[in-house]
Amino acid sequence: MYDEEVYEKYRKAGEILKEVKNEAIPMIKKEESILKVAEFVEKKIIEMGGGIAFPCNIARNEEAAHSTPQRNDKRVFEDDMVKLDIGVHVDGYIADSAITIDLSGNSELVRASEEALKAAIEIIEAGINTSEIGDVIETTIKSEGFRPIYNLTGHGLMRYIPHAPPPIPNRKVPQGVELLEGVVIAIEPFATDGVGKVVDGEKVEIFQTVSNSMARLPMVRKLQKELKKYETLPYAKRWLPPEKLEFALSNLQKLGIVRGYPVLKEVSGGLVSQAEHSLIVLDGGCEVIT
Ligand code: MN
Ligand code: MN
Repeated sequence: MYDEEVYEKYRKAGEILKEVKNEAIPMIKKEESILKVAEFVEKKIIEMGGGIAFPCNIARNEEAAHSTPQRNDKRVFEDDMVKLDIGVHVDGYIADSAITIDLSGNSELVRASEEALKAAIEIIEAGINTSEIGDVIETTIKSEGFRPIYNLTGHGLMRYIPHAPPPIPNRKVPQGVELLEGVVIAIEPFATDGVGKVVDGEKVEIFQTVSNSMARLPMVRKLQKELKKYETLPYAKRWLPPEKLEFALSNLQKLGIVRGYPVLKEVSGGLVSQAEHSLIVLDGGCEVIT
């Protein structure tokens, strides 16, 4: 359990997220710029007094996660299955929520992840085992005729840590963990008409600093100073000063100081839908904050 003022910060992050998400959803339509939507989301979070917990993720079709536009990205939405995933923090306390907007004519797949999220939220309370949550997610998605993505999970939310333990599985696992009263978690079922597994794609647009060590080259250290403001939160390549960026980022990755998050894609090329809410686990139930 945290102090009440901590929960107030989580709730405020959730309120900002809801408003930003509601304004962004109608922007997602054919021929609209993907970059424009991401920049709108990120700017609006700041305008409303929040912090960006991670770059606005916009994954399409077989992409499941970790996709965000490049600098000067010219791509537009087509007949896509679009996942909009937003993270907002207040003083480091994070709300994380995603929705699928279907421009591809596959609304049953969207329904599968939404129904799984609803079913999971209904059973969550202090003391539940995460394996039971995974079971209800898997059962619901399968009953809709699809498969869950078994190697993506929900997660805990801790201060400045968007992916904290425990993992919340999207299938029945042999051994889960018990959720304690007062923890804050994100539940995120992914449904697919493919085989149900994601693998790393080639593109990497999202990075995170994972070590405090300093590189030796001055131009690399200069980038490190710039990265300090993101603390342990992920950032987008397009946010960073472009001069010698590729070199500096690859140097920092080789040194184990920065980690890249490749776009995750369904291995068989299946379409992917996602639904996600953040919530506080309570005695006898839960409070959805997004
Ligand atoms: Mn998310
Ligand atoms: Mn999440």
